[in-house]
Amino acid sequence: MATQQRFVDWLGDLAEVMAREQGALTDLDSAIGDADHGSNMARGTAAVADLLDDEFADTATLLKKAGMTLVSTVGGASGPLYGTFFMRMAGPLAGIEDVSAAELGAALRAGVEGVQQRGKAEPGDKTMYDAWLPALEAYDAAVAADADIAAALEAAATAAAQGRDATEPWVAKKGRASYLGERSAGHIDPGAASTTLLLESAARTLR
Ligand code: ADP
Ligand code: MG
Ligand code: MG
Repeated sequence: MATQQRFVDWLGDLAEVMAREQGALTDLDSAIGDADHGSNMARGTAAVADLLDDEFADTATLLKKAGMTLVSTVGGASGPLYGTFFMRMAGPLAGIEDVSAAELGAALRAGVEGVQQRGKAEPGDKTMYDAWLPALEAYDAAVAADADIAAALEAAATAAAQGRDATEPWVAKKGRASYLGERSAGHIDPGAASTTLLLESAARTLR
């Protein structure tokens, strides 16, 4: 059962990870985008980390505020997408103090559906959705087999990493990378890489 403190730990860890991986994410985005994904994510998650000393009525309120902060500080394509993810995640968690593995699964599903609705990406479009969707499926399969939160998130992070790596040969169909057409092939999608980092961070911190 994950308490609000675990989600605080997650968001704090995420800011550290994005600060550390900023250069790697920007390198990916310099190949098929505009070389700002690392700085976008580092700036946004640092702004979220600045919230973490505040008091929140519940986990849902914290996640909603985190999402709004990402929308207002990240910008670009990824800001509204990650912002929507956290804001939608809050929905199924309203009023829940100790989040179960199944409840977290419902929250992840709502968040990923938000990403899909907002960006209209389909599987194989070479976006962050190519990491989110297999991660969600792996999470649900793990919980169906009685995994706890940590084990289910571990499975989700592994699936996200596979989804991230699968984007490398693809031609981008959405976002800035799609402007390159065939020249977008041969590079990993930056957003799929940051989504994998986000899930790896969750697997380390949520229990
Ligand atoms: P920008 O492209 O505006 O500079 P970022 O560099 O921060 O924004 O983020 C780029 C990432 O956003 C891409 O690598 C991709 O994963 C994701 N992305 C872009 N458009 C979409 C979309 N329509 N649906 C899902 N993800 C998208
Ligand atoms: Mg960019
Ligand atoms: Mg940009």
